Amino acid sequence: MTNTLARPSTAGPGHGDAFTAHMVSATWTPELGWHGREVGPLTPLTLHPAMLGLHYAQVVFEGLKAHRGVDGSVSVFRPDRNALRFQASARRLAMPELPVDDFLAAVDELVALDHGALSDDPSHSLYLRPLMFATEPNLMLRPSAEYRFLLMAFVAGGFFGDDALAPVSVLISREHSRAVAGGTGDVKCAANYGPSFVAQRAAAEAGCQQVVWLDAAERRWVEEMGGMNLFFVRQGPAGTELVTPGLTGTLLPGVTRDSLLTLAARTGYAVSEERISVQQWRRECAEGRITEVFACGTAAVVTPVGTVRDRDGDWTVGDGTPGPVTRLLRGLLLDTQRGAAPDPGGWRRVVVAPTR
Ligand SMILES: *Cc1c(COP(=O)(O)O)cnc(C)c1O
Repeated sequence: MTNTLARPSTAGPGHGDAFTAHMVSATWTPELGWHGREVGPLTPLTLHPAMLGLHYAQVVFEGLKAHRGVDGSVSVFRPDRNALRFQASARRLAMPELPVDDFLAAVDELVALDHGALSDDPSHSLYLRPLMFATEPNLMLRPSAEYRFLLMAFVAGGFFGDDALAPVSVLISREHSRAVAGGTGDVKCAANYGPSFVAQRAAAEAGCQQVVWLDAAERRWVEEMGGMNLFFVRQGPAGTELVTPGLTGTLLPGVTRDSLLTLAARTGYAVSEERISVQQWRRECAEGRITEVFACGTAAVVTPVGTVRDRDGDWTVGDGTPGPVTRLLRGLLLDTQRGAAPDPGGWRRVVVAPTR
């Protein structure tokens, strides 16, 4: 059988266009709870047009990665964190939580089956996309009584090339907000992302690659960049410190963010979570106090920010090139994921045994 949805790439993987051959599926009903988990070919779905999730956005997702280690093993990076966040997202959307063990079993199953799609190329990884959506055909404004869980995967690439560390230009969004207090900014629900595309497009029209989100109340405090968390490298009296905005409820608690805070502290940098205003970002760059800024997330790992555009002018971070702390932390994270650096936190869940 040929699987027409799985599209193994010939020209090196992009993001989300080289799906592997299989997917895991499970169903939730009030009578049976979660049941019927099975793995099968990645195929189109048959959906009722009145499926509640399509109309009212009861849809949550996750993003995590499997890596081929230096010893040939394949491991998934901190999937327990994604399993817990998936539960938090489901709770926020009045959806049933998928047990952590079911989440991990699905991940193990798909990775064990499709890891062959992942070459030895250290710049490639297997991006895993868990998804849960409301399937009841009913247009009443209330939570669905049926849900579907899916897990699919694609090969992601390009994180070791020269391009991977190319600094991005960002536009501070003054018009749009990503998240509001009491909203859904701290969970991964589909409804957060569609509305962000128009701001992303405005950034592109202003000649920038990414959008930076400010808090919605004062439009003063820096929150995130696109779908990634932000870090500031600052030269303080006690040496180099790493600063990231605290989790106020309107930021997505990134697994990469958490991992980098841990790795940075272990490396000996002072780390802190504090508010940073746009004004402060600009001023401290001019003073040479903030020397590097980078964004982080599962998809793009660590991405340096080179230039910032705001309504009343542009500025450059450092000399606009990737700085030493950015490079070091990025290398440390990638080495940890591939088993080339110590893993005291037990972050690697080995699914496929070493081959060498
Ligand atoms: C997923 C996501 C992140 C990064 O989270 P990771 O767990 O590190 O991948 C950051 N911000 C937003 C808005 C996100 O959706």
